[in-house]
Amino acid sequence: MTLQGRMMAFPLTIQHLLARARTLFPETPIVSRRPDKSVVRSNWGTVANRAEQLTRGLRSLGIGPGDRVATLCWNHHEHLEAYLGIPSLGAIVHTLNLRLSPQDLTYIVGHAEDKAIIVDQSLLPLFSKFRDALPSGAPVIVVRDLGAPLTDPAFQDYESVLAPAEAVPAPFAYPSVFAAADENAAAMLCYTSGTTGNPKGVLTSHRAIVLHAFALALRDSFGIASDDVVLPVVPMFHASSWGLPYAAALVGASIAFPGPHLDAVSLLDWMHAEKVTFAGGVPTIWIGILDALDRAKAAGEAKWDLSLLRNMIIGGSAAPPSLMDGFLIRHGLKVTHAWGMTELNPLGTVATVTPAIASQGEAAVASARASQGIPSPFVEMRHVDDAGTVLPWDGVAMGELECRGPWVASSYFRDEGQDRFTADGFFKTGDVVTIDRHGYMRITDRSKDVVKSGGEWISSVALENSLMAHPAVLEAAVFAGREEKWGERPLAAVAFKEGQAATDEELAAHLAASFPKYWLPDAYIRVAQVPRGSTGKFLKTKLREDYGDLLLKK
Ligand code: ADP
Repeated sequence: MTLQGRMMAFPLTIQHLLARARTLFPETPIVSRRPDKSVVRSNWGTVANRAEQLTRGLRSLGIGPGDRVATLCWNHHEHLEAYLGIPSLGAIVHTLNLRLSPQDLTYIVGHAEDKAIIVDQSLLPLFSKFRDALPSGAPVIVVRDLGAPLTDPAFQDYESVLAPAEAVPAPFAYPSVFAAADENAAAMLCYTSGTTGNPKGVLTSHRAIVLHAFALALRDSFGIASDDVVLPVVPMFHASSWGLPYAAALVGASIAFPGPHLDAVSLLDWMHAEKVTFAGGVPTIWIGILDALDRAKAAGEAKWDLSLLRNMIIGGSAAPPSLMDGFLIRHGLKVTHAWGMTELNPLGTVATVTPAIASQGEAAVASARASQGIPSPFVEMRHVDDAGTVLPWDGVAMGELECRGPWVASSYFRDEGQDRFTADGFFKTGDVVTIDRHGYMRITDRSKDVVKSGGEWISSVALENSLMAHPAVLEAAVFAGREEKWGERPLAAVAFKEGQAATDEELAAHLAASFPKYWLPDAYIRVAQVPRGSTGKFLKTKLREDYGDLLLKK
């Protein structure tokens, strides 16, 4: 028989993160920017106290363990209070993606059976379009980010829902209505964007969130520490803002929330003003920021001091190597590529460069940095072919990535999408990848974005990465166009940098240097901007809808 260790079975819960931040880091700043660009300065002590007041306030509104409380909010300290306060009641914070259509939001709120909602005043016009999805009489708690009075008597001011503060709590005291400490209890619900079929709910546990926060603090990962000022550009309504708020609570890092101002110049102003050291966002955000930095440099302006910025994480879709090189070479700024999914809470891999790679020289380092990276501790991955056979880690064999680990979904809410889980306990990601012998994973495509031309697979990611390395190109997305002879052929949508352009022949010649002829797109479609989806990623479904039949009409 196994001899059991003599350690406590101490639960890994969000209540502890709340109590820890309050006990150890009360003075550390939490700063939020409002829609009018005014700045609200709070700190971990105040946020943790108010989160606890929210816990008790929700309780007095009849919310209890297991209930879903929706949030429809930008990134700010009240949303952070909800992140900590709702799970501290044993309830579940259900983040709603404010870029989804009212129809999708109606579906999601109904599917989740939300009992209450916390909503930004500036988002009430959107809320009014799906309000009926909530049960009648459900509390509607409004964060008055516009400062204006509330006109609808059914709305409650967030501030008035907060229960009165209790006496100064003892170190590590948990909220007084603290539900049973079950680390496997659900804490957060987030729906996938549902580009195929209805959105599915990913229900994360306290334990998964806490372990994931530890992983973000590792130096080979995001390395978030108490001396960081974290800028979560990635929205809190999507994949828990990559878990950055919880990691910051764990280590006592400061947070500078950008509010709704996510254009490149507003973000650069914010990074400069708040002395940001760490930021995370999707490639489209960083493409805009690099362009703004390049233009300022060309104009001889030095508007932004980013000397404290130690790392920027690019993830959520493939980061073109030209983007990472541009930051590093032209501006001396470090960016790191990472891969994740909502179903992984979301971090899966980080493109950290290990000594084994560094010793192989510059080309190996560049290739590792451009890859999606090696798995986080306790995330196990493999890739399989169409028959389900596990493929070798040789950097060549291409197959669907599958993962398992303590922060990987074991099923979806209400048991939907069971075909995404294997009988032997892996989650099927839908990403087509190679894995090399050092464990570096490279995404060649999402299975639904792969271009299949005459039975051959063409990697849209590889083509668009190369197009974005062309000096005139700002953004490019490659997608499948239907074609009679080959079934599908690649098409490219291209947006140029201001005042620049290139002919089809120039773009084709640029690609021909790296790819076989049959890979080259059949058409280059000029667009002002590549369309974006609800999380800011390139939206290839829209491109396929608009231009997918282009070759048939010819
Ligand atoms: P969705 O994009 O469907 O809204 P997620 O945010 O969960 O939902 O997206 C996860 C998907 O995003 C992954 O399956 C993968 O296709 C893509 N992705 C995430 N990070 C990267 C990356 N670094 N490179 C390429 N693709 C990525």
